[in-house]
Amino acid sequence: MTVLVTGGAGYIGSHMVLALVDAGEDVVVLDNLSTGFQWAISPKAELVIGDIGDQELAARVISERGVNAIVHFAGSIVVPDSVADPLGYYSNNTVKSRALIEVCVHQKVPHFIFSSTAAVYGIPVGNPVYEDSDLAPISPYGSSKLMTEWMLRDSAAAYDLEYVALRYFNVAGADPQGRSGQSTPRATHLIKVACQTMLGQRDHMDVFGKDYDTPDGTCVRDYIHVCDLISAHVDALMYLRGGGHSGVFNCGYGEGYSVLDVIKSVEKAGGKPIDVRDAPRRAGDPPALIAGADKVRAELGWQPQHNDLDKIVEGALAWERHLQLRNDAA
Ligand code: UDP
Repeated sequence: MTVLVTGGAGYIGSHMVLALVDAGEDVVVLDNLSTGFQWAISPKAELVIGDIGDQELAARVISERGVNAIVHFAGSIVVPDSVADPLGYYSNNTVKSRALIEVCVHQKVPHFIFSSTAAVYGIPVGNPVYEDSDLAPISPYGSSKLMTEWMLRDSAAAYDLEYVALRYFNVAGADPQGRSGQSTPRATHLIKVACQTMLGQRDHMDVFGKDYDTPDGTCVRDYIHVCDLISAHVDALMYLRGGGHSGVFNCGYGEGYSVLDVIKSVEKAGGKPIDVRDAPRRAGDPPALIAGADKVRAELGWQPQHNDLDKIVEGALAWERHLQLRNDAA
C-alpha cells in the first residue's frame, strides 16, 4: 500500500509527504522539480523525477510500487501568470491532470485526492462561501482547477474511482519541526511578503487597496495553517479508505483576517514595525473570502490544531529566517 504524491517537492506537497511518512505510510513522490526542491522531500519517501503528464512513467510508478492512492498537488499556482499564459496553465493543470486521472483509472487505483482552490468561486456574492456556492472562477488558474474537479466528478461517476477535492483558502505557515515551509523565491503571498519585509529582503511592502467594503478597508481572507490543511488530506485518505464517497470540501477555518491584521501579526512576531505603503487594488481580488468549513469537519472528521494567526505567522517568519541562513550559506 503506497501513496503516490505528485508535486511532493513543493510547499504543500512536501508537508503531505512528511505527514504520511510520520504516519508510517509508504510514499513515492512524482515531481519534475520545476518549482519544488529535492531537499524538501522527506528522506523516508522515494522520489521519482518526472512529469505527471508522462503516462508511461506514471503507470510504471503505480504498478511497480503498488500505489493504491494518489494525492495530486503538482501544478502551476500563480494567478497573474495564468492570466498571462492561460494555455500553459491549462496544459499543466488540466491536460496533465487528465493524463494522470486516465492512468489512475487504467491502473485501477481506487482513491484520488485533489488539491483544488477557493479560486473556483471567483468573487463570491456572500461569505462564508459554501461548497454549493456559485462556481465562477475569474482566472485561468481557477478555471484550470475547476475543470480538473469536473473531470474527477465525471470519472468517478463512470469508473471505479472515488475522489476528494479539497478547495484551499489561504494556506500559510510552516512545519513546526522546521522541516519545510513556503520556499518559492518569487513569492506574492501576503504572509511571505510581509515576513521577507521584516527580514530586510524587501525595503517595503504594499497594501493592495484600503477602500474595500470591509471593517478596516483591506481585504479579508481565511488563513489556514499548512499542517491543518494537510491533516484534512490525511482525513480524506482515511475517509476514502473507509468507504467514503466522492466529494468536494472547503479547507479553511471559517474566520477572516484583514491584510492589516496580518501585517500587525508579522510586526508582533518580528518585534518591530515594517515599511508598509498604500497601493492600488490588485486586479481580481475579492474583498472577502471566508470558507464555509462545516462539511470538512462533519464528513471528514477534520479537527484543526493550529487555528491561530499569530502562530501561523511566527512559523512563517521562523521558516523565512531559516531560508535566509540557507541561502546565505549557499
Ligand atoms: N496583499 C497585499 N500585499 C501583498 C500581497 C498581498 O496587500 O504584497 C493582499 C492581497 O491583495 C489580498 C491578500 O493580501 O487581498 C491576500 O493575498 P495573497 O496573494 O496572499 O492570497 P490570495 O487571497 O490572492 O490567494
